[in-house]
Amino acid sequence: MTDRLLSFVQHPFGRRIARALHLPQPVRLQRRMDATSDRELAGRSVLTIAPGSVGPMPSLLAAITALGGGAAGDAPIQTLAIDATGCRDIAALRALFEQAQFAVTRLAMNARVLALTSAAMGDAAEAACAQAVNGFVRALAKEIGRRGATANVLVLQEGAASAESLAGALRFFGTDRSAYVSGQVLAWRKTPEAVTHETMTHETTGRAPRSRVALVTGAAGGIGMATARRLALDGLRVLCVDVPAARQPLEALAADIGGALLAADLTASDAVDELIDAIRRLGGLDVLVHNAGITRDRTLARMAPADWDAVMAVNLTAILTIDARLEAAGLLNDGAREICLSSISGIAGNAGQTNYSATKAALIGYVAARAIPLDARGGTINAIAPGFIETAMTRRMPLMVREAGRRLNALKQGGTPADVAEAIAFLAAPGARPLTGQVLRVCGQSLLGA
Ligand code: NAD
Repeated sequence: MTDRLLSFVQHPFGRRIARALHLPQPVRLQRRMDATSDRELAGRSVLTIAPGSVGPMPSLLAAITALGGGAAGDAPIQTLAIDATGCRDIAALRALFEQAQFAVTRLAMNARVLALTSAAMGDAAEAACAQAVNGFVRALAKEIGRRGATANVLVLQEGAASAESLAGALRFFGTDRSAYVSGQVLAWRKTPEAVTHETMTHETTGRAPRSRVALVTGAAGGIGMATARRLALDGLRVLCVDVPAARQPLEALAADIGGALLAADLTASDAVDELIDAIRRLGGLDVLVHNAGITRDRTLARMAPADWDAVMAVNLTAILTIDARLEAAGLLNDGAREICLSSISGIAGNAGQTNYSATKAALIGYVAARAIPLDARGGTINAIAPGFIETAMTRRMPLMVREAGRRLNALKQGGTPADVAEAIAFLAAPGARPLTGQVLRVCGQSLLGA
Protein backbone atom coordinates (compact mmCIF):
# COMPACT_ATOMS: atom_id res chain seq x y z
CA MET A 1 0.00 0.00 0.00
CA THR A 2 1.36 3.44 -0.86
CA ASP A 3 2.20 5.87 1.87
CA ARG A 4 1.64 9.04 -0.17
CA LEU A 5 3.13 11.37 2.45
CA LEU A 6 6.32 9.29 2.57
CA SER A 7 6.72 9.58 -1.22
CA PHE A 8 5.73 13.27 -1.24
CA VAL A 9 8.33 14.41 1.29
CA GLN A 10 11.20 12.72 -0.56
CA HIS A 11 11.14 15.72 -2.95
CA PRO A 12 12.47 19.12 -1.75
CA PHE A 13 9.19 20.80 -2.77
CA GLY A 14 7.12 18.26 -0.84
CA ARG A 15 9.37 18.63 2.17
CA ARG A 16 8.94 22.41 2.14
CA ILE A 17 5.16 22.09 2.01
CA ALA A 18 5.13 19.48 4.78
CA ARG A 19 7.32 21.71 6.95
CA ALA A 20 5.09 24.73 6.38
CA LEU A 21 1.99 22.71 7.29
CA HIS A 22 3.72 21.08 10.29
CA LEU A 23 3.15 17.64 8.77
CA PRO A 24 5.44 14.72 9.65
CA GLN A 25 8.40 14.29 7.28
CA PRO A 26 9.32 10.62 7.40
CA VAL A 27 12.58 9.54 5.77
CA ARG A 28 12.75 6.45 3.58
CA LEU A 29 14.13 3.72 5.86
CA GLN A 30 17.24 1.84 4.83
CA ARG A 31 16.53 -1.88 5.09
CA ARG A 32 18.61 -5.00 4.78
CA MET A 33 16.76 -8.16 3.77
CA ASP A 34 19.29 -10.54 2.21
CA ALA A 35 20.45 -13.84 3.73
CA THR A 36 22.11 -13.59 7.12
CA SER A 37 25.90 -13.65 6.90
CA ASP A 38 28.85 -13.94 9.25
CA ARG A 39 30.05 -10.39 8.56
CA GLU A 40 26.92 -8.35 9.11
CA LEU A 41 28.79 -5.16 10.06
CA ALA A 42 31.07 -5.20 7.00
CA GLY A 43 31.16 -1.74 5.41
CA ARG A 44 29.59 -0.05 8.45
CA SER A 45 31.34 2.67 10.44
CA VAL A 46 31.10 1.81 14.11
CA LEU A 47 31.82 3.88 17.21
CA THR A 48 31.93 2.33 20.67
CA ILE A 49 31.69 4.41 23.82
CA ALA A 50 31.85 3.22 27.43
CA PRO A 51 30.72 5.87 29.92
CA GLY A 52 31.66 5.00 33.49
CA SER A 53 34.27 2.45 32.39
CA VAL A 54 37.96 2.63 31.50
CA GLY A 55 37.10 1.28 28.06
CA PRO A 56 34.51 -0.87 26.28
CA MET A 57 34.26 -4.56 27.16
CA PRO A 58 36.93 -6.40 25.12
CA SER A 59 34.25 -8.91 24.11
CA LEU A 60 32.19 -6.10 22.53
CA LEU A 61 35.16 -4.92 20.50
CA ALA A 62 35.91 -8.52 19.52
CA ALA A 63 32.29 -9.03 18.38
CA ILE A 64 32.39 -5.88 16.23
CA THR A 65 35.68 -6.96 14.65
CA ALA A 66 34.41 -10.49 14.04
CA LEU A 67 31.38 -9.07 12.22
CA GLY A 68 33.59 -6.88 10.03
CA GLY A 69 32.70 -3.48 11.53
CA GLY A 70 35.15 -0.66 10.85
CA ALA A 71 36.11 2.25 13.12
CA ALA A 72 34.04 5.33 12.31
CA GLY A 73 37.04 7.72 12.25
CA ASP A 74 35.76 10.99 10.79
CA ALA A 75 32.92 9.29 8.89
CA PRO A 76 29.29 9.57 10.01
CA ILE A 77 28.55 6.87 12.59
CA GLN A 78 26.29 4.10 11.28
CA THR A 79 26.38 1.91 14.37
CA LEU A 80 26.87 3.36 17.83
CA ALA A 81 27.53 0.73 20.49
CA ILE A 82 27.19 2.05 24.03
CA ASP A 83 28.76 -0.14 26.68
CA ALA A 84 26.74 1.25 29.60
CA THR A 85 27.57 -1.60 31.98
CA GLY A 86 29.66 0.90 33.96
CA CYS A 87 26.74 3.33 34.44
CA ARG A 88 26.38 2.64 38.14
CA ASP A 89 26.48 6.15 39.61
CA ILE A 90 25.45 9.67 38.75
CA ALA A 91 28.94 10.65 37.60
CA ALA A 92 28.79 7.80 35.05
CA LEU A 93 25.41 9.04 33.83
CA ARG A 94 27.03 12.45 33.30
CA ALA A 95 29.70 10.71 31.22
CA LEU A 96 26.89 9.00 29.25
CA PHE A 97 25.36 12.40 28.54
CA GLU A 98 28.68 13.87 27.36
CA GLN A 99 29.86 10.94 25.26
CA ALA A 100 26.49 10.26 23.66
CA GLN A 101 25.99 13.97 22.96
CA PHE A 102 29.29 14.04 21.08
CA ALA A 103 28.35 10.88 19.14
CA VAL A 104 24.79 11.92 18.29
CA THR A 105 25.95 14.97 16.34
CA ARG A 106 27.88 12.58 14.10
CA LEU A 107 25.17 9.96 13.61
CA ALA A 108 24.46 8.98 10.01
CA MET A 109 20.90 8.88 8.68
CA ASN A 110 19.39 5.46 9.51
CA ALA A 111 22.00 4.89 12.22
CA ARG A 112 21.59 2.09 14.76
CA VAL A 113 22.28 2.71 18.45
CA LEU A 114 22.59 -0.29 20.77
CA ALA A 115 23.17 0.22 24.49
CA LEU A 116 24.23 -2.61 26.79
CA THR A 117 23.52 -2.46 30.49
CA SER A 118 24.14 -4.97 33.23
CA ALA A 119 21.42 -6.82 35.13
CA ALA A 120 23.81 -7.46 38.02
CA MET A 121 23.44 -4.41 40.24
CA GLY A 122 24.85 -4.00 43.73
CA ASP A 123 22.33 -1.78 45.48
CA ALA A 124 19.27 0.36 44.85
CA ALA A 125 21.31 3.38 43.76
CA GLU A 126 23.13 1.30 41.14
CA ALA A 127 19.83 -0.19 39.97
CA ALA A 128 18.44 3.34 39.60
CA CYS A 129 21.38 4.41 37.46
CA ALA A 130 21.09 1.31 35.25
CA GLN A 131 17.39 2.01 34.75
CA ALA A 132 18.25 5.62 33.90
CA VAL A 133 20.02 4.33 30.81
CA ASN A 134 16.75 2.79 29.57
CA GLY A 135 14.94 6.12 29.84
CA PHE A 136 17.85 7.94 28.24
CA VAL A 137 17.96 5.58 25.24
CA ARG A 138 14.19 5.57 24.75
CA ALA A 139 14.14 9.36 24.73
CA LEU A 140 17.10 9.45 22.36
CA ALA A 141 15.27 7.00 20.08
CA LYS A 142 12.39 9.46 19.81
CA GLU A 143 14.79 12.28 18.91
CA ILE A 144 16.72 10.42 16.23
CA GLY A 145 13.67 8.67 14.75
CA ARG A 146 13.04 11.62 12.44
CA ARG A 147 16.38 10.74 10.78
CA GLY A 148 15.33 7.11 10.32
CA ALA A 149 17.65 6.10 13.15
CA THR A 150 16.78 3.71 15.99
CA ALA A 151 18.04 2.97 19.51
CA ASN A 152 17.55 -0.10 21.70
CA VAL A 153 18.83 -1.52 25.00
CA LEU A 154 19.91 -5.03 25.93
CA VAL A 155 20.12 -5.82 29.62
CA LEU A 156 22.93 -8.34 29.93
CA GLN A 157 22.33 -11.09 32.45
CA GLU A 158 25.34 -12.51 34.24
CA GLY A 159 27.63 -14.36 31.83
CA ALA A 160 25.86 -13.04 28.71
CA ALA A 161 28.64 -10.74 27.52
CA SER A 162 30.81 -13.16 25.54
CA ALA A 163 31.94 -11.97 22.11
CA GLU A 164 29.89 -14.69 20.43
CA SER A 165 26.75 -13.75 22.33
CA LEU A 166 27.15 -10.03 21.61
CA ALA A 167 27.76 -10.75 17.93
CA GLY A 168 24.37 -12.47 17.85
CA ALA A 169 22.76 -9.27 19.12
CA LEU A 170 24.71 -6.89 16.88
CA ARG A 171 23.77 -8.83 13.74
CA PHE A 172 20.26 -7.49 14.19
CA PHE A 173 20.28 -4.47 16.48
CA GLY A 174 23.47 -3.03 14.97
CA THR A 175 22.39 -3.25 11.33
CA ASP A 176 19.62 -2.26 8.91
CA ARG A 177 17.86 -5.54 9.66
CA SER A 178 16.22 -3.78 12.62
CA ALA A 179 15.06 -0.73 10.63
CA TYR A 180 11.60 -0.65 12.29
CA VAL A 181 12.61 -1.75 15.80
CA SER A 182 13.24 1.09 18.22
CA GLY A 183 12.94 2.00 21.89
CA GLN A 184 13.08 -1.65 22.99
CA VAL A 185 14.57 -2.88 26.26
CA LEU A 186 15.17 -6.64 26.27
CA ALA A 187 16.90 -9.08 28.61
CA TRP A 188 19.87 -10.87 27.01
CA ARG A 189 20.64 -14.11 28.85
CA LYS A 190 23.65 -16.34 29.18
CA THR A 191 23.22 -19.52 27.17
CA PRO A 192 25.00 -22.78 27.70
CA GLU A 193 25.51 -23.83 24.08
CA ALA A 194 27.79 -22.22 21.54
CA VAL A 195 25.97 -20.81 18.52
CA THR A 196 27.50 -20.50 15.10
CA HIS A 197 26.35 -19.31 11.73
CA GLU A 198 26.70 -22.92 10.53
CA THR A 199 23.94 -24.14 12.85
CA MET A 200 21.71 -21.43 11.42
CA THR A 201 21.10 -23.24 8.15
CA HIS A 202 21.84 -26.82 9.04
CA GLU A 203 21.33 -29.06 11.97
CA THR A 204 24.89 -30.24 12.53
CA THR A 205 24.48 -32.48 15.52
CA GLY A 206 23.61 -36.09 14.75
CA ARG A 207 24.16 -37.69 11.39
CA ALA A 208 24.16 -36.08 7.96
CA PRO A 209 23.45 -32.33 7.92
CA ARG A 210 19.90 -31.54 6.87
CA SER A 211 18.06 -28.31 6.20
CA ARG A 212 16.21 -26.91 9.17
CA VAL A 213 12.46 -27.03 8.71
CA ALA A 214 10.10 -24.13 9.42
CA LEU A 215 6.31 -23.92 9.59
CA VAL A 216 4.75 -20.56 8.75
CA THR A 217 0.98 -20.31 9.22
CA GLY A 218 -0.96 -17.64 7.35
CA ALA A 219 1.78 -17.81 4.70
CA ALA A 220 -0.40 -16.32 1.95
CA GLY A 221 -0.84 -13.08 3.90
CA GLY A 222 1.39 -10.01 4.07
CA ILE A 223 3.66 -10.87 6.99
CA GLY A 224 3.47 -14.64 6.49
CA MET A 225 4.58 -14.52 2.87
CA ALA A 226 7.48 -12.19 3.63
CA THR A 227 8.50 -14.49 6.49
CA ALA A 228 8.41 -17.67 4.41
CA ARG A 229 10.55 -16.01 1.76
CA ARG A 230 13.01 -14.66 4.33
CA LEU A 231 13.45 -17.97 6.15
CA ALA A 232 13.99 -19.73 2.81
CA LEU A 233 16.77 -17.22 2.09
CA ASP A 234 18.52 -18.45 5.23
CA GLY A 235 18.37 -22.00 3.86
CA LEU A 236 15.33 -23.30 5.74
CA ARG A 237 12.80 -25.61 4.12
CA VAL A 238 9.47 -23.91 4.75
CA LEU A 239 6.06 -25.53 5.11
CA CYS A 240 3.60 -22.81 4.05
CA VAL A 241 0.06 -23.08 5.43
CA ASP A 242 -3.03 -21.00 4.75
CA VAL A 243 -6.77 -21.41 4.18
CA PRO A 244 -8.01 -23.38 1.11
CA ALA A 245 -9.24 -20.15 -0.49
CA ALA A 246 -5.61 -19.00 -0.62
CA ARG A 247 -4.35 -22.14 -2.41
CA GLN A 248 -3.25 -20.26 -5.52
CA PRO A 249 -0.86 -17.75 -3.89
CA LEU A 250 0.27 -20.51 -1.54
CA GLU A 251 1.23 -22.76 -4.46
CA ALA A 252 3.07 -19.93 -6.19
CA LEU A 253 4.96 -19.14 -2.97
CA ALA A 254 5.94 -22.73 -2.25
CA ALA A 255 7.13 -23.24 -5.84
CA ASP A 256 9.14 -20.03 -5.68
CA ILE A 257 11.00 -20.86 -2.47
CA GLY A 258 11.22 -24.64 -2.91
CA GLY A 259 8.96 -25.17 0.09
CA ALA A 260 6.06 -27.46 0.93
CA LEU A 261 2.45 -26.35 1.30
CA LEU A 262 -0.78 -27.23 3.02
CA ALA A 263 -4.05 -25.47 2.19
CA ALA A 264 -6.15 -25.96 5.32
CA ASP A 265 -8.25 -24.05 7.83
CA LEU A 266 -6.32 -24.45 11.09
CA THR A 267 -9.47 -24.18 13.18
CA ALA A 268 -10.68 -27.54 11.80
CA SER A 269 -9.48 -30.62 13.68
CA ASP A 270 -8.93 -32.74 10.54
CA ALA A 271 -6.74 -29.89 9.22
CA VAL A 272 -4.51 -30.18 12.28
CA ASP A 273 -4.26 -33.95 11.65
CA GLU A 274 -3.12 -33.19 8.10
CA LEU A 275 -0.64 -30.64 9.41
CA ILE A 276 0.89 -33.08 11.87
CA ASP A 277 1.29 -35.68 9.09
CA ALA A 278 2.97 -33.13 6.83
CA ILE A 279 5.39 -32.13 9.60
CA ARG A 280 6.19 -35.76 10.34
CA ARG A 281 7.09 -36.31 6.69
CA LEU A 282 9.49 -33.35 6.90
CA GLY A 283 11.27 -34.74 9.96
CA GLY A 284 9.84 -32.44 12.64
CA LEU A 285 10.10 -28.69 13.12
CA ASP A 286 13.06 -26.47 13.95
CA VAL A 287 11.23 -23.17 13.54
CA LEU A 288 7.54 -22.61 14.22
CA VAL A 289 5.94 -19.29 13.28
CA HIS A 290 2.36 -18.90 14.50
CA ASN A 291 1.42 -16.04 12.20
CA ALA A 292 -2.16 -16.71 11.01
CA GLY A 293 -4.49 -14.19 12.59
CA ILE A 294 -7.78 -12.43 11.99
CA THR A 295 -9.70 -9.41 13.26
CA ARG A 296 -13.46 -9.05 13.75
CA ASP A 297 -13.66 -5.55 15.16
CA ARG A 298 -16.73 -4.33 17.08
CA THR A 299 -17.11 -2.51 20.38
CA LEU A 300 -17.88 -4.95 23.18
CA ALA A 301 -21.51 -3.83 23.41
CA ARG A 302 -22.07 -4.67 19.73
CA MET A 303 -19.84 -7.70 19.34
CA ALA A 304 -21.61 -10.84 18.13
CA PRO A 305 -20.64 -14.08 19.91
CA ALA A 306 -19.55 -15.42 16.50
CA ASP A 307 -16.98 -12.61 16.19
CA TRP A 308 -15.58 -13.43 19.61
CA ASP A 309 -15.42 -17.15 18.80
CA ALA A 310 -13.83 -16.72 15.37
CA VAL A 311 -10.99 -14.57 16.68
CA MET A 312 -10.37 -16.90 19.65
CA ALA A 313 -10.38 -19.93 17.33
CA VAL A 314 -7.72 -18.65 14.91
CA ASN A 315 -5.57 -16.39 17.10
CA LEU A 316 -5.38 -18.55 20.21
CA THR A 317 -7.05 -21.99 20.20
CA ALA A 318 -5.35 -23.07 16.96
CA ILE A 319 -1.93 -22.18 18.39
CA LEU A 320 -2.50 -24.03 21.66
CA THR A 321 -3.87 -27.05 19.79
CA ILE A 322 -1.03 -27.22 17.27
CA ASP A 323 1.60 -26.92 20.01
CA ALA A 324 -0.04 -29.61 22.15
CA ARG A 325 -0.26 -31.97 19.17
CA LEU A 326 3.37 -31.28 18.18
CA GLU A 327 4.57 -31.98 21.72
CA ALA A 328 2.50 -35.16 21.98
CA ALA A 329 3.93 -36.41 18.68
CA GLY A 330 7.50 -35.38 19.58
CA LEU A 331 7.72 -33.26 16.43
CA LEU A 332 9.32 -30.17 17.91
CA ASN A 333 13.04 -30.80 17.50
CA ASP A 334 15.57 -29.93 20.20
CA GLY A 335 16.70 -26.32 19.89
CA ALA A 336 13.44 -25.34 18.17
CA ARG A 337 12.51 -21.69 17.81
CA GLU A 338 8.89 -20.71 18.28
CA ILE A 339 7.57 -17.27 17.38
CA CYS A 340 4.02 -16.06 18.02
CA LEU A 341 2.61 -13.02 16.27
CA SER A 342 1.13 -10.84 18.97
CA SER A 343 0.34 -7.15 18.46
CA ILE A 344 0.70 -3.79 20.17
CA SER A 345 -3.09 -4.11 20.56
CA GLY A 346 -2.29 -6.93 23.00
CA ILE A 347 -0.08 -4.55 24.99
CA ALA A 348 -2.03 -1.30 24.85
CA GLY A 349 -5.55 -2.56 24.13
CA ASN A 350 -7.49 -1.03 21.29
CA ALA A 351 -11.10 0.18 21.20
CA GLY A 352 -13.23 -2.17 19.12
CA GLN A 353 -10.80 -5.04 19.61
CA THR A 354 -11.61 -6.67 22.95
CA ASN A 355 -11.53 -10.07 21.21
CA TYR A 356 -8.32 -9.41 19.24
CA SER A 357 -6.49 -7.67 22.13
CA ALA A 358 -7.39 -10.54 24.46
CA THR A 359 -5.88 -13.13 22.10
CA LYS A 360 -2.77 -11.09 21.41
CA ALA A 361 -2.20 -10.44 25.14
CA ALA A 362 -2.72 -14.14 25.77
CA LEU A 363 0.23 -14.92 23.53
CA ILE A 364 2.47 -12.71 25.65
CA GLY A 365 1.57 -14.74 28.72
CA TYR A 366 1.92 -17.94 26.73
CA VAL A 367 5.50 -17.28 25.58
CA ALA A 368 6.59 -16.23 29.08
CA ALA A 369 5.32 -19.50 30.57
CA ARG A 370 6.31 -21.82 27.73
CA ALA A 371 9.88 -20.47 27.60
CA ILE A 372 10.76 -22.56 30.66
CA PRO A 373 10.04 -26.05 29.31
CA LEU A 374 11.45 -25.19 25.89
CA ASP A 375 14.66 -23.85 27.41
CA ALA A 376 15.41 -27.24 28.93
CA ARG A 377 15.62 -28.58 25.36
CA GLY A 378 17.69 -25.69 23.99
CA GLY A 379 14.66 -24.01 22.45
CA THR A 380 13.24 -20.50 22.67
CA ILE A 381 9.83 -18.93 22.29
CA ASN A 382 9.10 -15.24 21.86
CA ALA A 383 6.28 -13.01 20.77
CA ILE A 384 6.59 -10.38 18.11
CA ALA A 385 4.29 -7.41 18.52
CA PRO A 386 4.02 -5.54 15.24
CA GLY A 387 2.78 -1.98 15.30
CA PHE A 388 1.25 -0.56 12.14
CA ILE A 389 2.39 -2.75 9.25
CA GLU A 390 1.31 -2.06 5.67
CA THR A 391 -0.71 -5.20 4.84
CA ALA A 392 -4.22 -6.28 3.82
CA MET A 393 -5.16 -6.19 7.52
CA THR A 394 -4.34 -2.49 7.93
CA ARG A 395 -5.69 -1.65 4.46
CA ARG A 396 -9.13 -2.49 5.82
CA MET A 397 -8.92 0.26 8.49
CA PRO A 398 -10.94 3.49 8.10
CA LEU A 399 -8.78 6.22 6.48
CA MET A 400 -8.25 8.45 9.52
CA VAL A 401 -7.52 5.54 11.87
CA ARG A 402 -5.05 4.20 9.31
CA GLU A 403 -3.30 7.54 8.96
CA ALA A 404 -3.03 7.97 12.74
CA GLY A 405 -1.68 4.42 13.11
CA ARG A 406 1.00 5.13 10.54
CA ARG A 407 2.28 8.34 12.10
CA LEU A 408 2.06 7.72 15.86
CA ASN A 409 5.58 6.39 16.15
CA ALA A 410 9.11 7.74 16.27
CA LEU A 411 9.73 6.97 12.57
CA LYS A 412 6.46 8.64 11.44
CA GLN A 413 5.57 5.80 9.05
CA GLY A 414 4.23 2.27 8.93
CA GLY A 415 6.49 -0.75 8.83
CA THR A 416 6.57 -3.33 6.04
CA PRO A 417 5.98 -7.09 6.21
CA ALA A 418 9.70 -7.45 5.49
CA ASP A 419 10.49 -5.60 8.75
CA VAL A 420 8.55 -8.20 10.72
CA ALA A 421 10.03 -11.06 8.65
CA GLU A 422 13.52 -9.79 9.43
CA ALA A 423 12.77 -9.82 13.18
CA ILE A 424 11.40 -13.36 12.86
CA ALA A 425 14.53 -14.48 10.97
CA PHE A 426 16.60 -12.99 13.79
CA LEU A 427 14.65 -14.87 16.48
CA ALA A 428 14.88 -18.06 14.40
CA ALA A 429 18.66 -17.82 14.09
CA PRO A 430 21.00 -19.46 16.61
CA GLY A 431 22.44 -16.07 17.64
CA ALA A 432 19.13 -15.17 19.31
CA ARG A 433 19.31 -18.09 21.76
CA PRO A 434 19.81 -15.60 24.66
CA LEU A 435 16.34 -14.14 24.03
CA THR A 436 13.35 -16.12 25.25
CA GLY A 437 9.95 -15.60 26.86
CA GLN A 438 9.93 -11.97 25.72
CA VAL A 439 8.09 -9.58 23.44
CA LEU A 440 9.95 -7.92 20.61
CA ARG A 441 7.95 -4.99 19.27
CA VAL A 442 8.37 -4.17 15.60
CA CYS A 443 6.54 -0.88 15.78
CA GLY A 444 8.92 2.00 15.09
CA GLN A 445 8.58 2.92 18.79
CA SER A 446 4.82 3.31 18.55
CA LEU A 447 3.25 5.54 21.16
CA LEU A 448 0.58 2.88 21.72
CA GLY A 449 1.43 0.88 24.82
CA ALA A 450 4.78 2.62 25.17
P1 NAD B 1 -3.05 -10.91 6.67
O1 NAD B 1 -4.52 -10.81 6.78
O2 NAD B 1 -2.37 -10.30 5.49
O3 NAD B 1 -2.58 -12.45 6.77
C1 NAD B 1 -3.11 -13.37 7.69
C2 NAD B 1 -3.17 -14.72 7.01
O4 NAD B 1 -3.68 -15.68 7.93
C3 NAD B 1 -4.12 -14.70 5.80
O5 NAD B 1 -3.46 -15.14 4.63
C4 NAD B 1 -5.24 -15.63 6.23
O6 NAD B 1 -5.83 -16.35 5.15
C5 NAD B 1 -4.51 -16.57 7.21
N1 NAD B 1 -5.50 -17.25 8.05
C6 NAD B 1 -6.54 -16.68 8.72
N2 NAD B 1 -7.26 -17.63 9.31
C7 NAD B 1 -6.67 -18.81 9.06
C8 NAD B 1 -6.96 -20.15 9.39
N3 NAD B 1 -8.05 -20.46 10.12
N4 NAD B 1 -6.14 -21.12 8.95
C9 NAD B 1 -5.07 -20.83 8.19
N5 NAD B 1 -4.73 -19.57 7.83
C10 NAD B 1 -5.53 -18.57 8.26
O7 NAD B 1 -2.48 -10.33 8.02
P2 NAD B 1 -1.02 -9.80 8.38
O8 NAD B 1 -1.11 -8.34 8.51
O9 NAD B 1 0.00 -10.40 7.52
O10 NAD B 1 -0.91 -10.36 9.88
C11 NAD B 1 -0.17 -11.51 10.24
C12 NAD B 1 -0.15 -11.61 11.75
O11 NAD B 1 0.42 -10.42 12.32
C13 NAD B 1 -1.54 -11.73 12.37
O12 NAD B 1 -1.49 -12.66 13.45
C14 NAD B 1 -1.84 -10.35 12.87
O13 NAD B 1 -2.75 -10.35 13.94
C15 NAD B 1 -0.47 -9.87 13.28
N6 NAD B 1 -0.35 -8.39 13.27
C16 NAD B 1 -0.44 -7.66 12.12
C17 NAD B 1 -0.33 -6.27 12.19
C18 NAD B 1 -0.41 -5.39 10.98
O14 NAD B 1 -0.29 -4.17 11.12
N7 NAD B 1 -0.57 -5.90 9.77
C19 NAD B 1 -0.15 -5.65 13.42
C20 NAD B 1 -0.08 -6.42 14.56
C21 NAD B 1 -0.18 -7.80 14.47
